[in-house]
Amino acid sequence: KTGGRGVYSVFEPSMSDAFEARRRTEADLRAALEEEQFELHYQSLVDAREGHVVCVEALVRWRHPTRGLIPPLSFIPLAEDTGLILPLGRWILERACRDAQAWPETVDVAVNVSSVQMRQKGFGAEVLAVLAETGLAAARLEIEITESSLLEGSEATQENLAALHDAGIRIAMDDFGTGYSSLSYLRRFPIDKIKIDRSFMSEAATSADARAIIRAVAGLGISLGITTVVEGVETAQQLELARSEGVGQVQGYLLSRPQPQAMLSRTGLPQHRW
Ligand code: C2E
Ligand code: MG
Ligand code: MG
Ligand code: MG
Repeated sequence: KTGGRGVYSVFEPSMSDAFEARRRTEADLRAALEEEQFELHYQSLVDAREGHVVCVEALVRWRHPTRGLIPPLSFIPLAEDTGLILPLGRWILERACRDAQAWPETVDVAVNVSSVQMRQKGFGAEVLAVLAETGLAAARLEIEITESSLLEGSEATQENLAALHDAGIRIAMDDFGTGYSSLSYLRRFPIDKIKIDRSFMSEAATSADARAIIRAVAGLGISLGITTVVEGVETAQQLELARSEGVGQVQGYLLSRPQPQAMLSRTGLPQHRW
């Protein structure tokens, strides 16, 4: 049909292959939910001044029976398209809140939430129900959203954000600087934390502009009372730079890789000295 008038679309084998692969992954995804093939790995957020772990972010992985460990970006989009993100997101939230009970009370837990969940009427209430069920204090939960969640600013999204915020749950804006009109969102929505996208950190060593943006966002955070985080800190030089630009927290492979809860319990949450 897209070929225009008089052009008959040919059903290419590659198209049917892609369709078939997607159909199979969708079926796998459904089965995976039933069989609990998902696991959460945890990565620390570290106070940039003091060096202690303040928060731990949950990052989902799919332990596929034949394909091995699948990263989130390979299945979250399909989960969103099919609506499976709703039960999966609920599972993630519950698991993360339970796991967090094993950490010191000073360590919060951050959970990534899809725009599909955020647009869902009653999502805020659902989160509160999970807190009640797991016994985790609202003040220890942080919900990470992306700008795409705020793009249409639907009524349900507004209500959910207000419900979360009013309950004392913090809202973090993830991948800050990669979307549109980020600054207007800071006024329109109750944002408690900004996570500066890691592309800025990766360019900071060579780009004065990237560095200036990190510095400006750090300053904005201080003025607005919003915590700022730099993601993707991989080298000592990048850490030094992030700290000197005045961001509140740092996160990245240099400080910790995402790791399973069991590993976290063995190694503990290290105090960094700098
Ligand atoms: P994100 O929330 O921005 O998470 C950060 C991603 O960057 C993670 O990838 C993390 O492993 C990776 N990362 C952390 N430090 C470094 C570093 O120093 N260098 C580099 N190169 N990468 C680093 P991951 O786990 O593959 O997750 C990718 C994205 O998938 C996440 O980006 C988030 O948008 C989404 N995601 C992950 N878990 C969930 C979830 O439970 N629910 C939803 N809805 N989305 C999730
Ligand atoms: Mg995140
Ligand atoms: Mg992030
Ligand atoms: Mg990111």
